[in-house]
Amino acid sequence: MNKIKIGVSSCLLGNTVRFDGQHKRDAFITEVLSEYCDFVPVCPEVECGMSIPRETLRLVGTPESPRLMTGKTKRDYTTQMMDWAKNRLEELAQEDLVAFIFKTKSPSSGLRAVKVYNQSGHPVSYKGQGLFARAFVERFPDLPVEDEGRLKDAGLRENFIETIFVLQRWREHVRNGKAAELVTFHSRHKYTLMAHSPAKLRVMGALVARAGLGDFDEIRRTYFQELLTTLQTRKTVKKNTNVLLHVGGYFKTDLGVEEKEELNREIELYHKGINPLQVPLTLIRHFSRKYKREYLLSQHFLSPHPVEMGLLNGV
Ligand code: SF4
Repeated sequence: MNKIKIGVSSCLLGNTVRFDGQHKRDAFITEVLSEYCDFVPVCPEVECGMSIPRETLRLVGTPESPRLMTGKTKRDYTTQMMDWAKNRLEELAQEDLVAFIFKTKSPSSGLRAVKVYNQSGHPVSYKGQGLFARAFVERFPDLPVEDEGRLKDAGLRENFIETIFVLQRWREHVRNGKAAELVTFHSRHKYTLMAHSPAKLRVMGALVARAGLGDFDEIRRTYFQELLTTLQTRKTVKKNTNVLLHVGGYFKTDLGVEEKEELNREIELYHKGINPLQVPLTLIRHFSRKYKREYLLSQHFLSPHPVEMGLLNGV
């Protein structure tokens, strides 16, 4: 797999572009994710022409249609920011990004929960969205986006990283491929999709069954939209346990009594919140290799992202 191309708020990469000349380097992004991703840094405030250092900015007005203004001198940068964003978003379209990670709470880059003030300088809402972040989401509604604050949550982080790996595989194998590639993609993600939504898995399976028959471009487009919404459906311990039991069923005739007990015990401990998901998955990978269950070994559910990232230890 090639490196995954992701847009990132520039200050999170350690670039000293903040209003105070500092950065907000994020260790997970720069030390872990960087092994697997190429980053396209974007600092809306500096790129639209503001200096470093600069006066702090805030959103003023209503959450639906705020202005971007400096706090003390009340200078309005809304037009300058939006004029720049229009061109920059078209440049980013050429970059063909897989996802974007935004800086939390920024009036330019914040995805959600940005403070909005009234003209007298009092906060009136905590539901604002940074001007550039909003324009980005409107321009690229299909791209997964997160902010670095939410990525501190182990479940959200795992889900986001799983999503970008799934989408990269989609790009490399299915986006320009034929029906056979879609069939293979679906087959290898069967248990990934089941962990998110068994109902969606059935819908997507029905689409794949028609892949060689109807208008393939239309089927692929529909499948992709279903894929995006399925990946946004949160996995739960209950849904993961259901998948683990399904997968365990493949070893019915392989495992001896002790091995069966071991597998059931590890799944049970995961279900009770004592084991992380990594434990039963490691055992299933081991049994899959031992009993040569190639179909299971091809399942991305067993290895959604590189084990070195350690993300399954936290969920
Ligand atoms: S939050 Fe956004 S606008 Fe502010 S310094 Fe970081 S990248 Fe630049």
